[in-house]
Amino acid sequence: MKNIAFFCIPAHGHTNPMLPVAAELVKRGEKVRFYSFDEFEEKIRKTGAEFISCSSYLPKLTKEEEERVKSISTTEMSIQDIRITLKMNDFLENEFKTFKPDVVYTDSVCFWGKLNAWKFEVPMVVSTSTFAFNQLSSKYMKYSSAEMKDMIFGLPKISKELKTLRPYGYKVKSAMSLIQSDNYTDSIVYTSKRFQPYAESFSNHYLFAGPSVFSDVLPQKEKEKPLIYISLGTVINERPDFYKNCIKGLKDMNADIIISYGRYMDKNLLGELPENVNAFHYVDQLDILSKADVFITHCGMNSVSESLYMAAPMVLYPQTSEQNAVARKVSELGAGIMLTDDSAEGIKNAVQQILDNKSYADSAMECHRDFRSCPGTKGAADFILNAPHKSEGIDVMEELNKGNKIFMLLYWLCVIALICLFGFLISWKFVWIIGIAGGVLSTPLGNVAQKTRYNSIINKIKKTKDK
Ligand code: UDP
Repeated sequence: MKNIAFFCIPAHGHTNPMLPVAAELVKRGEKVRFYSFDEFEEKIRKTGAEFISCSSYLPKLTKEEEERVKSISTTEMSIQDIRITLKMNDFLENEFKTFKPDVVYTDSVCFWGKLNAWKFEVPMVVSTSTFAFNQLSSKYMKYSSAEMKDMIFGLPKISKELKTLRPYGYKVKSAMSLIQSDNYTDSIVYTSKRFQPYAESFSNHYLFAGPSVFSDVLPQKEKEKPLIYISLGTVINERPDFYKNCIKGLKDMNADIIISYGRYMDKNLLGELPENVNAFHYVDQLDILSKADVFITHCGMNSVSESLYMAAPMVLYPQTSEQNAVARKVSELGAGIMLTDDSAEGIKNAVQQILDNKSYADSAMECHRDFRSCPGTKGAADFILNAPHKSEGIDVMEELNKGNKIFMLLYWLCVIALICLFGFLISWKFVWIIGIAGGVLSTPLGNVAQKTRYNSIINKIKKTKDK
């Protein structure tokens, strides 16, 4: 029997996929201790795992502060997490010494899980509730200028805060090593290789387990009227304006409508509900999705995975850059359409388009089959029990980065040669134009070169495998 310590941040979207994995490990006779927060106690205890509350280490927030937390930047969030890690230091030191975990299974953004696994040199597996993000797949995200600014100016602030951890024995090389996925850390991602952008760039340290859900139910779509389900997830969901537009746009359709409007919003804000509309603050989402014909979603990774797992095509209404990346992948696979107009009329048209064109449902069904063929929670449990994993095969990112350096060296040599040629043959007065053009073109040309090299590395790997 192994002792396995689970760590997660206080968020449903991050906690939910870890629960079936905990249940599977408990079923196999392993001892699972889940470090989480009071809000999740019931769900965690149901898995058979031991629940350990870390709630007293969270800052006490007023309702207004809680609202603000939902939209704080990655930098602010990271600094908060480092401070929480410090507060938990004595408690977790004692836990690691007495529970003596054989493996730590920690959420990818749960700093106290990662930092303590490194500190106590316990094999660690990372739970990734979004796509796995590396240099390539993060290009799928379209960051806003505020997010870009936060990333550039935030890293030094995070690095400075990390220094406060050093006296307590926490080994951390850099802020990036704490935040980004790398090809050496054992990681479980709850999607399929088909759904993960640039899946081949991830090493054998990644398991694409597919959605981790408690359900043996299969999609059941036969019924009298179509079912339309609406949810904006569990975090940024207080949008009475949007739900009201949905109600207005869909009330005259010959369809049943279910809205999950979140734990905190006042239901009265929705006004009087038409006969075919039901609204709840929380629902059994998987059960509803198994019957749903259209899901209007904010494109949280879990919601989208669950939707495809239950073969429900989607109207995509992403609110963050991460959700945008997920939405982009769904629309590329033909299992949903972007909601570009969130007025009542726009919502009605998008839903009607999905209902009228069978290709969306067919594509969602294809994703459902793909997800069902993934290793699932059983595969995830095996992966955790066998950690740490040895590196195997070619590290695509390492190859790519080597190539990048050579390309950039050659590129700048060419620019310098061009500057000299222009200077000697025409005029030195205007050579700065070539310098600036060289600088501007370096990123798009670098990207094209990288993509070409990526395809050639992947083809090479495929050929070697086929032999
Ligand atoms: N969820 C649920 N019932 C609801 C609303 C949400 O069970 O009424 C679950 C949903 O199944 C999913 C999670 O909450 O597992 C939401 O996670 P997601 O990543 O989609 O979005 P987030 O809430 O993190 O924005």
